[in-house]
Amino acid sequence: MSAPNKSYDPVEVSSLQPEELDRARDEALEAIAGATGLDDLKQVRLAHAGDRSPLALANREIGALPPQARAEAGKRIGAARGAVSQALKARQAELEEERDQRVLVEETVDVTLPWDRAPRGARHPITTLQDRMADVFVSLGFEVAEGPEIEAEWFNFDALNFKPDHPARTMQDTFFVEAEETGLVMRTHTSPVQVRSLLTRELPVYVVVPGRTFRTDELDATHTPVFHQLEGLVVDEGITMADLRGGIDAFVKGMFGEGLKTRMRPSYFPFTEPSAEVDMQCFVCRGASVELGAPPCRTCGSEGWIELGGCGMVNPRVLVAAGIDADRYSGWAFGLGVERTLMFRHGVEDMRDMVEGDVRFALPFGTEI
Ligand SMILES: [Zn+2]
Repeated sequence: MSAPNKSYDPVEVSSLQPEELDRARDEALEAIAGATGLDDLKQVRLAHAGDRSPLALANREIGALPPQARAEAGKRIGAARGAVSQALKARQAELEEERDQRVLVEETVDVTLPWDRAPRGARHPITTLQDRMADVFVSLGFEVAEGPEIEAEWFNFDALNFKPDHPARTMQDTFFVEAEETGLVMRTHTSPVQVRSLLTRELPVYVVVPGRTFRTDELDATHTPVFHQLEGLVVDEGITMADLRGGIDAFVKGMFGEGLKTRMRPSYFPFTEPSAEVDMQCFVCRGASVELGAPPCRTCGSEGWIELGGCGMVNPRVLVAAGIDADRYSGWAFGLGVERTLMFRHGVEDMRDMVEGDVRFALPFGTEI
């Protein structure tokens, strides 16, 4: 600050010269207009309207002027500071408005967005199909029976009339549980539950057995080492193959609808005698695709028939193994693969899709819990 001097000429205080004040004001106005945000404007305010700003410093020089010059200089500074202050106020309002608009856009809460982003789990299609298949038997009065997945060799093979040298007993087909002398295997079919049911239940026995089974197959499009079977077992007095046929027809009707024929082809299983393979008429083309010139059917490969599973009359040796009077009682058994059923019923072409756990495979089957 310059020292007071009564003979001081105001034009000699450079910061109070009109051009200087105009320059300081214009610089301030330019900086205010150029402020891009509220923080930026805060800096501009400090630099051009704060205590150390050129206009504030010039204001302090007024005291150094002779009294007659102070009024005019004060007026000029006042006008300049007023203009800066007004511009600051206006720019502040503009920037606050811009900020508010931006917040409205950037921080918008879209209430239509789903709040439950974590999808709920659902049962696998194999499980729901297996239950549906078992339900058909339950609706006929059957009980659901289950057994262990690690099974005694005796239940898995011997009691079911597999001879000691049967190829299914080899390690090429069966997972043996270490140590081998424990006589434990991963069950290769659900049929050991037949014997368990006959040993533990009162006759007559009407059971349906769903469950996981194991064989030493490599995983590929048509094989999996872990798969599911479902079988029905009836042991009662006076049971004949007509009852077997009736049971299978009722199952086909329950799963695939009315009016589909079934047929049996002779086959062999150690635990049934006689044994048969069961086919059902294709539920898509209903056999029409075999006609000459008819459109091809992917479901049955234009065969008209779909292989359903194996069946037969319970081998009397199995009844005897379970301590049942084979002269008085007879029975039938019918078994099929759940994976295979899922494949032809729903057009699944690759078995690996069923085990890889990708929800995109499971979702189209619904999210039944
Ligand atoms: Zn067909």
